[in-house]
Amino acid sequence: MTTARRPAAFLDRDGVINIDHGYVVRAEDLAFVEGAPAAIRRLNEAGYLVVVVTNQSGVARGYFTEADVGRFHDHLRAELAAHGARIDAIYTAPHHPEATIAAYRADHPDRKPRPGMLLKAFAELPIETRGSFLVGDKASDVEAARAAGIPGHLFPGGDLDAFIAGVLALATTNPVFGEDR
Ligand SMILES: [Mg+2]
Repeated sequence: MTTARRPAAFLDRDGVINIDHGYVVRAEDLAFVEGAPAAIRRLNEAGYLVVVVTNQSGVARGYFTEADVGRFHDHLRAELAAHGARIDAIYTAPHHPEATIAAYRADHPDRKPRPGMLLKAFAELPIETRGSFLVGDKASDVEAARAAGIPGHLFPGGDLDAFIAGVLALATTNPVFGEDR
């Protein structure tokens, strides 16, 4: 069976999908950024693979475990499903160079601004690089996108659905969008 390749919309998590209270991991601390479920639904309907790429140094710092993060992501997916929105894949970078937990003490290639999570997604998922992009709320997100060879857009806050609609309009009206690498 062949799988048609589709462009991916890479989304940072904290500050893009959920409000960044700092080391969010408890279900009760999930609060969506305005328009986030609608934005993800919009991307689903437009045919993008929605891939979350998130640094979670709280694991390295011993604040919570990878299993805790996984449980939070199950909750996140369930809450999105209630809005008719779907995340296709989530990549997490639990490392930090100054980790308190030795196993996670690394300047790991997955940790943004390095592009490891995006490159892994390109290798593992049926992603068409052309037309793919990233939305993040930090310069390190945009830097990771650039290092992976796709455009990165800095989300300044506000309504994520309106912001994503603007990104998609740009992608549609400018045929060379995304080719400037
Ligand atoms: Mg963020």
